[in-house]
Amino acid sequence: MTDYRINGETGAWEVVIGLEVHAQVTSNAKLFSGAATAFGAEPNTQVSLVDAAMPGMLPVPNRECIRQAVRTGMAIDAVINKYSRFDRKNYFYADLPQGYQISQLYHPLVGEGSLTIEADEKAGIAEAKRIEIERIHVEQDAGKLMHDQHPTMSFVDLNRSGVALMEIVSKPDMRSPAEAGAYLRKLRAILRYVGSCDGNMEEGSMRADVNVSVRKPGGDLGTRTETKNVNSVRFVMQAIEYEARRQVEVLESGGTVDQETRLFNPDSGTTRTMRSKEDAHDYRYFPDPDLLPLELDDAFLDECRASLPELPDAKRARYEELGISAYNAGVLTAEVESARWFDALMDAGAKPAAAANWVTSELFGALNRLGKDIGESPVSPAQAAELLALVADGTISGSIAKQVFEIMLETGDGAAKIVEEKGLKQTSDTGAIEAEIAKVLAANADKVAQYKGGKEALFGFFVGQTMKAMQGKANPQVVNELLKKALG
Ligand code: ADP
Ligand code: MG
Repeated sequence: MTDYRINGETGAWEVVIGLEVHAQVTSNAKLFSGAATAFGAEPNTQVSLVDAAMPGMLPVPNRECIRQAVRTGMAIDAVINKYSRFDRKNYFYADLPQGYQISQLYHPLVGEGSLTIEADEKAGIAEAKRIEIERIHVEQDAGKLMHDQHPTMSFVDLNRSGVALMEIVSKPDMRSPAEAGAYLRKLRAILRYVGSCDGNMEEGSMRADVNVSVRKPGGDLGTRTETKNVNSVRFVMQAIEYEARRQVEVLESGGTVDQETRLFNPDSGTTRTMRSKEDAHDYRYFPDPDLLPLELDDAFLDECRASLPELPDAKRARYEELGISAYNAGVLTAEVESARWFDALMDAGAKPAAAANWVTSELFGALNRLGKDIGESPVSPAQAAELLALVADGTISGSIAKQVFEIMLETGDGAAKIVEEKGLKQTSDTGAIEAEIAKVLAANADKVAQYKGGKEALFGFFVGQTMKAMQGKANPQVVNELLKKALG
């Protein structure tokens, strides 16, 4: 129940966390204009008259952005509201040319849903846990202020102004930094599977507002602070840790926690006050008169649902049904790229369990060494399937497969070609194997005597020596049988 407690002088505290994630919708155009959304473009090169709030310009909803938000809602099993509406959130800031943000307060596009985080002993998550999600609403992003270009002036880049965001609001269901980290990683995986957000936190396409409070376990919710715009999973976890400890100190020294908005400093891992928290009524929300309500029809919803891919939980369960270990199934489905790669490997005929072992050890090991993502793997799923087929049908042994794989990585050649050219085929030629066994036993007469005297663990030694003498090319099963015979 209470996975995480902060032990203070006067007793145990429980930390309560709710996350508001801003996820940039994958779309070539902005939420209400046709301007482009590419990351890293020259400042103010992707700004339409709508995004610059020129007088008389009218917003037109981008169907694709709405579609992506609906698909995301479906992926977290959420209620999709067939009727939703846009509201104006009014405030002044130099990065907001309209003087208001178009958002959704009263009638969001997506209602309640949930996702499940997996058990993780090491992180102190004892069992899988469902985290409830309150809503997803769609809104515009603001521009970006630049203060470091000139000694006395600030500049504004409106490229991001008007880009579509999904705000995904969790309930206050998380109880530790680790649970919050697991939630963010799972949410990011779902967004990437769906293709509705690239989840790239470094580029700012996914960022989290971190709400933290502490309480005595079982008591009422405490007053929370909200730390804004934290842009990595690790930073979110650090911010929670810091904030929880700070609040406990305040409370234990007889103070009260102020409901406020705070900023995270990644260099020190600390948070500091930014402003006292504003309430919804401060923003004078009202329905945007320039936009009609959204009314979704069944055909649109059917198309959204039909377009969803197999999602992480379902894929993981299917992998386990195919005989893949729970651990490997978790690793392979954690990121959409590895899951896609693995599906392609199985489509090319590889046997699931053996292929999973190979990918998670050999392939991931090699990619790690090369500093490459799986999408940049020098060996394709089809090439890997060819290699694994040679192992499966006994043409080469597992240890020779490792050598062949190294050569594949270096040369890009196919496995069968390498095996042929280098003469790496495994042999079941009993004559040749028996000859080597005879030599090994003759050279290790003392060990043979020990073995016969009852030290059976030495069997593995004889297997190893024989395989070595055969340069790894002997069929291990045949070696085993012939050795047993030779040793009586
Ligand atoms: P606002 O929109 O003003 O930030 P909300 O009520 O929508 O306020 O809540 C925003 C987020 O804060 C949600 O993710 C919610 O789970 C979380 N939250 C609400 N109360 C608490 C609390 N006492 N402790 C931690 N998180 C909280
Ligand atoms: Mg908020």
